[in-house]
Amino acid sequence: MSPALKNGLLLAALVLILILAGWFFTRGDKEATLPKTGYETEWMCDKCGKQFSLSPAQFDEWFKSPDKIRRDPNMGKQIVFWCPDCQAFSVVRAEIDPKTKKWYITLDSQGMPRELPPEVQAGAEEPPPDEGQ
Ligand SMILES: [Zn+2]
Repeated sequence: MSPALKNGLLLAALVLILILAGWFFTRGDKEATLPKTGYETEWMCDKCGKQFSLSPAQFDEWFKSPDKIRRDPNMGKQIVFWCPDCQAFSVVRAEIDPKTKKWYITLDSQGMPRELPPEVQAGAEEPPPDEGQ
């Protein structure tokens, strides 16, 4: 084997290792990205009632996007997203009543408690004890 050929083979081996390393790296990178479906969280506009199901990837995108998330130090740590319909920061975390499947929010975008919808309230609360004599 001539020294030139030997160097050539070494170089080829080195290039192959680099390609493999790059492949492992990018593959690992892809695996680390957030899922685009499943694990959705519910969000709802407190003005128009528009509903958003955010996948972890979408939530991450919104969370990192300054025009989609309200960043107001006076408003505490509540996460409030932009509603494209209302042109306002009014989308807050919502919950779904397991019985009625109705979406509702417990805090509005100003951090004020919201009353539960009557049908959710009825399902969530125990009937009041009968105190008749
Ligand atoms: Zn809205």
